[in-house]
Amino acid sequence: MKSTLPTSVDVLVVGAGPAGLTASTVLHSRGVHHLTVDRAPLGTNTSRAAVVHARTLEVLDDIGIADTLVERGVVVPTFTVRDHDRVLVTIGFDDLPTRFPYTLMVPQNITEAVLADHLRTQGGSITPGWRLDRIDLDTDPGRVHADLVDEDGRRSTIAARYLIAADGMHSTARELVGIPFQGAAYPQSFVLADVRMDWSLPADEVQLFFSPAGLVVVAPLPGGHHRVVATVDDAPEHPDLADITDLLSTRGPRSNPTHVHEVAWSSRFRVHHRLAATYRHGPVLLAGDAAHVHSPAGGQGMNIGIQDAALLANLIADVTTGDAPDQSLDAYEERRRPIARGVVRLTDRMTRAATLHGPATRVRNLALRTAGALPPVRHALAMNLSELNTGERQTHAPATRRSPRRATSEPGQHR
Ligand SMILES: Cc1cc2nc3c(=O)[nH]c(=O)nc-3n(C[C@H](O)[C@H](O)[C@H](O)COP(=O)(O)OP(=O)(O)OC[C@H]3O[C@@H](n4cnc5c(N)ncnc54)[C@H](O)[C@@H]3O)c2cc1C
Repeated sequence: MKSTLPTSVDVLVVGAGPAGLTASTVLHSRGVHHLTVDRAPLGTNTSRAAVVHARTLEVLDDIGIADTLVERGVVVPTFTVRDHDRVLVTIGFDDLPTRFPYTLMVPQNITEAVLADHLRTQGGSITPGWRLDRIDLDTDPGRVHADLVDEDGRRSTIAARYLIAADGMHSTARELVGIPFQGAAYPQSFVLADVRMDWSLPADEVQLFFSPAGLVVVAPLPGGHHRVVATVDDAPEHPDLADITDLLSTRGPRSNPTHVHEVAWSSRFRVHHRLAATYRHGPVLLAGDAAHVHSPAGGQGMNIGIQDAALLANLIADVTTGDAPDQSLDAYEERRRPIARGVVRLTDRMTRAATLHGPATRVRNLALRTAGALPPVRHALAMNLSELNTGERQTHAPATRRSPRRATSEPGQHR
């Protein structure tokens, strides 16, 4: 049965990827009257982001799903940076000051399913099949009127105090309110593949191979798969078994040839490094890829998006429940945008360093080996990658553990 939308909510969340699902879950748990829509049908997202870092697990723990997610993923306590068979740096996560001293490898569709299941069991829902088409900020000052369109062209207008734009890199909301998305695209494509293969290196490790031909990252996934990510100048649309074998044999370990048996999923994509000029335009606030995109080196994108969404939803809940003034939302951009800017810079440096050519590679390798021999440097790298160094940990009480004050999601299909 077709969903009927309400005409007014406190918060409209546009997009039900990891950021939108997180926002919806927090808003629901805080008893905020909200609606979450997505233009896509249910469960259509693919593997994509596979790395969940410690800080994200802490945030998901506040929501109550970290343990479920950990059960569905592979715990990886170590990252290594390598030049073929030589280890340049080993970054261990096992002494990090957290309940989750590791990186979790789990495909994005599972992370989204765990979030959506939790939301549903708490009585919340997502309304799919509605696309944000237009935003009116003038009719009703202080509120946003959003026009949504379904697959049959049916239109519906919703008035909201706040709109959380979690509608991804090509955010319609961001474009409609005219927030510039500053940055550029990398010249190379990125190849992503989930494969089955004979792999001689440790199974509980993420390995980054720096090579003049480009970066290649190999990481374990649940079910005996490995995720392979590589920069390629001109990649085929759906890289096949021969493409992945070639990437690993030219850039990976030389001591043991790799035999790839099966490509379960693969994709090619262009990566941008971009940051929204501001995270807020009146009642419209950006979260996740709508606010920032960058190289997948280090696997940070989805992570900071989930953290954005949890903080933003909590701050908005403080306002809509009358505990804080609207100006308190300024803290969102003040806290989260510098973190995104840092991640854009860090991943950009990693991507460029990984693909150096000629004599510069020797200097890079020497610098990495020298710095990587120092325990404080390795610890700082682990804190950085796991996103535990952002100063965000003490700054918001885990309000998401409070009981729902009322059932808040509107009628619609449930995810
Ligand atoms: C191939 C690939 C590999 C990646 N690998 C990694 C990785 O290893 N690690 C990592 O951390 N990150 C990775 N990323 C990035 C990660 O996938 C994103 O950071 C993450 O999905 C962002 O989540 P989000 O919720 O902000 O946006 P999205 O996941 O893009 O979700 C946006 C949602 O909004 C909906 N939507 C869009 N427009 C509208 C509209 N007008 N109206 C209604 N709904 C709309 C879409 O249907 C979608 O469901 C990768 C991305 C890609 C493409």
